[in-house]
Amino acid sequence: MDKIFAATNEMLYQLSEEEFNRINEWYPIKVTSHIMSEISKKKSTRLAAQFLPDSRELQSDEGIGAFFPEEIHNTEIVVQKYPNRCMIYTTGVCFAHCRHCSRKEKWHEKNNFSYFLFDKAYLYINQNSHLEDVLLTGGDALANSDDNIEYMLEKLSAIAHIKSIRLATRAFTSFPDRITSKLCAILEKFNKVVVVTQFNCTDEFSDKTVAAIHNIQKTGTPILNQSVLLKGVNDEFRSIKDLFSTCAAHRVIPYYLFHCFNVKSVGHFRTNVELGEKIINNLVGNIGGWWIPRYILIPDSTGIKIPLCPNGLVEHSEASIRVKDYRGRILSYE
Ligand code: SF4
Repeated sequence: MDKIFAATNEMLYQLSEEEFNRINEWYPIKVTSHIMSEISKKKSTRLAAQFLPDSRELQSDEGIGAFFPEEIHNTEIVVQKYPNRCMIYTTGVCFAHCRHCSRKEKWHEKNNFSYFLFDKAYLYINQNSHLEDVLLTGGDALANSDDNIEYMLEKLSAIAHIKSIRLATRAFTSFPDRITSKLCAILEKFNKVVVVTQFNCTDEFSDKTVAAIHNIQKTGTPILNQSVLLKGVNDEFRSIKDLFSTCAAHRVIPYYLFHCFNVKSVGHFRTNVELGEKIINNLVGNIGGWWIPRYILIPDSTGIKIPLCPNGLVEHSEASIRVKDYRGRILSYE
């Protein structure tokens, strides 16, 4: 903790010991040695802002209290927001605590993997044939042991109506050593698995991270990226453009850019929605189409995502459609 306290004061702002301890009590501070070494090697304020504490976490009381409280829970650990998909909270543990996390109110709950709860989730999914996709999340799905990951993948893969299983992890950024050859050998056995991660800036692509990405890809498992638009981390066109082109260079597919969540204690990270729209719409035509994710807003406590852009539509009447191309020309289509 002494090292984190010193790094916070060196990289970000002066925090008193009292403030530091209070933040730690409310929203526990957890950082890996990998992140600490990348922060110091790169003098990265963008990594520091994501993982080191900020006194504004204590001040901001806007937003939803707990993680999206109106989510529909089908079992203790299954949540369903869309007709054909559900997610399973497999663990409450993460390798590091991202200060902008939408689940930080849950950091105090020490939920570890439970066979009893997972088997109940499995039974529910097995009995509901309209479900086609499962997200294994947490916490960090890779914080589960290899044996538990294999157990979950084996059971879910055997369900005929499940077409894809997403594994949500931030280990590439926080703990790339977690991507071991043993884990890769497990993933290689299952052809329904997709890994979903979160890169928010190019400073997260360390040598170890890149090696981990490539090792996962060698198993035939695609990797999708879900970024969050964060003030002080990536709230500029150049930074987002570099992020998505770096993802593309490593065949990591930019999938979503989230508008920063409206949950308590992350208000200092939130930009206005217009900024995200402007950045994403300006990318259209300027970088490859598949490098551009959808910009997503979660407007209320149900946690349901609303895609905002890219969107070239200017006006849609009964007689015609007016659209804008990337050069700014307004075109009519009748
Ligand atoms: S890895 Fe995900 S769940 Fe864990 S702290 Fe970061 S954003 Fe939150």
